[in-house]
Amino acid sequence: MSKETRKIETPQPIRGTQDIFGPDAEAFAHVVETFERVRKLYRFRRTEMPVFEKTAVFSRSLGETTDVVSKEMYSFEDRGGESLTLRPEFTAGIARAYLTNGWQQYAPVKIATHGPLFRYERPQKGRYRQFHQIDAEIIGAAEPTADVELLVMADQLLKELGIADGVTLTLNTLGDGTSREAWRAALIDYFRAVKGELSEDSQERLEKNPLRILDSKDPRDKLFVADAPRIDDYLSDEAKDFFARVTGGLDAAGVAWVRNPALVRGLDYYRHTAFEFVTDRLGAQGTVLGGGRYDGLMESLGGAATPAVGWAAGIERLAMLVADGGGVAERGPTFAVIAETRNVESAASAICAGLRKVAFGSHRYEWSADRSAISVEQFVTGNPRKRFERALKASPSICLILDDRGNEGNGAISIRAKAVAPDAEYGMSFWEPLNSILKDSFDVRGQRVDFNREVYLFPKSA
Ligand code: ATP
Ligand code: MG
Repeated sequence: MSKETRKIETPQPIRGTQDIFGPDAEAFAHVVETFERVRKLYRFRRTEMPVFEKTAVFSRSLGETTDVVSKEMYSFEDRGGESLTLRPEFTAGIARAYLTNGWQQYAPVKIATHGPLFRYERPQKGRYRQFHQIDAEIIGAAEPTADVELLVMADQLLKELGIADGVTLTLNTLGDGTSREAWRAALIDYFRAVKGELSEDSQERLEKNPLRILDSKDPRDKLFVADAPRIDDYLSDEAKDFFARVTGGLDAAGVAWVRNPALVRGLDYYRHTAFEFVTDRLGAQGTVLGGGRYDGLMESLGGAATPAVGWAAGIERLAMLVADGGGVAERGPTFAVIAETRNVESAASAICAGLRKVAFGSHRYEWSADRSAISVEQFVTGNPRKRFERALKASPSICLILDDRGNEGNGAISIRAKAVAPDAEYGMSFWEPLNSILKDSFDVRGQRVDFNREVYLFPKSA
């Protein structure tokens, strides 16, 4: 071996990926947890989807002319020579799963999921190459009530997250197939007349996908978007009626919305309702949640015509709004447990285990406090003084300090309990159950301890 130790270079993370930690991670988790609560409230069923699919799942359903398919997909050949793609969105994969698993039997089915997605984009604040979404879909329901339910759910989610202020629901209809076709033709006529002044991208979109010009962020395009033909002039009576029932439902449910006649979704398969929740609090990345009705999607994947509607929201963008609003308070542990001597270390572990069972209601003792809010942390590093300092720094409500120093030789354990939280008021309804839980914790371990004699538990204010 050579004497020179070669320095190993640490591989750097992939551009556009994030390692989320600390307050950002708490905000992220808060978004997901709140979404889980809300989707259960609305009785959406959870699904877990593969992160990759055959490329055709996305290229067929999203449309070859969309930005996602033409520029943003992470596609590769696997070792078997098959073209696969890391999912850039959820809906196409869910539609594929619906068809290949025969989920028609559950229709109409309400589905929710969340996880990572991949798009080759220019990374910036609120825009990443691996990002995360929460996603909700109703498949097999043609009724506008389904659109309403999804929008009310999205609205409630934002309110539960405390970020609804300054976020606006913008709404449009793209009409049914016939309305959409007529509008499309009118848009082509209109933009063709100014073709030379449009962005290069939009010149290309013009014949293939003119609706996408309305979605352009390029100022050269925006100039002409304002006066472009509006869908309203091309809506069939049926399409008008559908939209009226959606807006009527929203009004009845008390969900505020504004009409944006230029709102189209980037993807080809949308019909009728299209919507975005937008904010100006995130700079250029102002869309936090978007979706709509995609009645045409299943056919593009070889399935029977199936009405469906859904939305997806960027977790990072929602988490940024949560963080801007003060973030998620990181609570200290309910109990900080410290063993002061080696002899009582395993007793401390037993107490932690006992208290943690209470938190899940699997301990026989019923505590009046909010069980789900109980948390327990054991401090084991450093000398006893260091442990105590670390414990206090974590802002626990109660410190439980175990030692055997006063009881030399007889194997007894003393537990001191210190109420640390300044405004904590712990009456007998608190100390009595705690006493029993601590006793039980030892019983569970099969360790015989005469508590009346050997364990002293005395509440003492800090
Ligand atoms: P944008 O116009 O911002 O590119 P989009 O229309 O491509 O959005 P959708 O495909 O509708 O977005 O995805 C829904 C949501 O997912 C967006 O509103 C946004 O919150 C989030 N999102 C989309 N792309 C990214 C990304 N690259 N990084 C982070 N979040 C994203
Ligand atoms: Mg995009």
